Amino acid sequence: MNRFWLETYGCQMNKAESNALEEEMLDSGWIPADAAEEADLVILNTCSVRLSAENRIWGRLGYFKKLKETHPHTLAVMGCMAERLKEDLKKAVPAVDVIVGTFQKADFARLLRQAASARHALTLEDPCKEIYAFARRHSRKNDFRAFVPIMHGCDNFCSYCIVPYVRGREVSRDPHSIFEEIAGLLQAGRVKEITLLGQNVNSYRFQDMDFPGLLDALFQRFPRAPWIRFLTSHPKDFSPALIACMKNHREMCRAIHLPVQHGSDTILRAMNRQYTRGAYLALAERIRGELPDVLLSTDILIGFPGETEKDFQDTLDLMNEVRFDDAFTYYYNPREGTAAWNMQDTVCEKLKLERLQTLIALQREISRTRKRQRLGQTVRVLAEEISKKNSAEILGRTEGDEMVVFPGSTKKFPGGFHTVRLDELRGNTFYAHEIEVEK
Ligand code: SF4
Repeated sequence: MNRFWLETYGCQMNKAESNALEEEMLDSGWIPADAAEEADLVILNTCSVRLSAENRIWGRLGYFKKLKETHPHTLAVMGCMAERLKEDLKKAVPAVDVIVGTFQKADFARLLRQAASARHALTLEDPCKEIYAFARRHSRKNDFRAFVPIMHGCDNFCSYCIVPYVRGREVSRDPHSIFEEIAGLLQAGRVKEITLLGQNVNSYRFQDMDFPGLLDALFQRFPRAPWIRFLTSHPKDFSPALIACMKNHREMCRAIHLPVQHGSDTILRAMNRQYTRGAYLALAERIRGELPDVLLSTDILIGFPGETEKDFQDTLDLMNEVRFDDAFTYYYNPREGTAAWNMQDTVCEKLKLERLQTLIALQREISRTRKRQRLGQTVRVLAEEISKKNSAEILGRTEGDEMVVFPGSTKKFPGGFHTVRLDELRGNTFYAHEIEVEK
């Protein structure tokens, strides 16, 4: 028996890469264990972006170290934390058997195939070649939502961010390989939504092809493409051509995640974000002008070294001006190896928390007001599942990723499109009634 247990932490890219690994393992004879405690091989696909993510993983490593005393197994750590700490990780937790850095993920699948057929222990020699290889497929067979990586790594070096150090420089995927993966997904017939993934998707460039060029080519090749989304964008690379492309292709979900990170020019400069507050505001206005039905979300990082009360107020003002539909807010933690690690962490924990609470309260109020303004609208919803609370209700999401509940028969298969009218808002969830179901 070769039973594996795979735990994934962090971003969608990690999840897509874990899916790819899992598919390869299934193909080469490994079977998923019902519980970690029954596995012959435990793999943790890790994240290094925030301290809290790494702390959770340290906790899990402690658990598996203890488990090894009663249930011997191979313990493998892959992904960003493995890349960041390399052999130091093994020194800190000797129970770790295999370290698989970001650039070795493709090799790891090959190794697992050999280990399964030869039934020998895993060893990973010939480490890091520093060339990232994209897997050929990244989605689970029966999902109706698929994630397709189109680029990897980041060249931006925001001063607080570990990503360029653990995922390396930007590498764009060959469009033929992207289209081959999408063709496979569409051929299977179930996939209704594809998210194109990358640390900075809109800086995609393969030979002469940029991101809008890739999207145009995608719709030319697949004129009946399902909903298409992309994650994540950098404001400095969000070109007028990309806005025009979204306007031209109605299948592109009217949802843009555009991390602003801060509202003060001083802090944006210290963060090395490479745009000003004014440039961001102009871009947001242009996007909303050209795509009036778009839902705009963002990331905001508060408590960066040197942040004054005035800088914080500038951020609140920017939020009030843009009126984001949603915002992911967090406060600064120094990450070793980044440029900001050497800056003095001037904002104390208590103040960071206070400012974060203020941000969250403001965003909650803005989100709620914007959602209320949508009541009465007719929208298209992708059905996800039958509600666990009420089997006569269907749970779905709009193209802006908002949750919608509407009455429906349990016989209706999830993964279909429905047209509904938004009637009521309870918390963050819309309640709606169905107008039409697409055949
Ligand atoms: S753009 Fe900045 S925040 Fe985003 S991955 Fe690159 S360095 Fe990190």
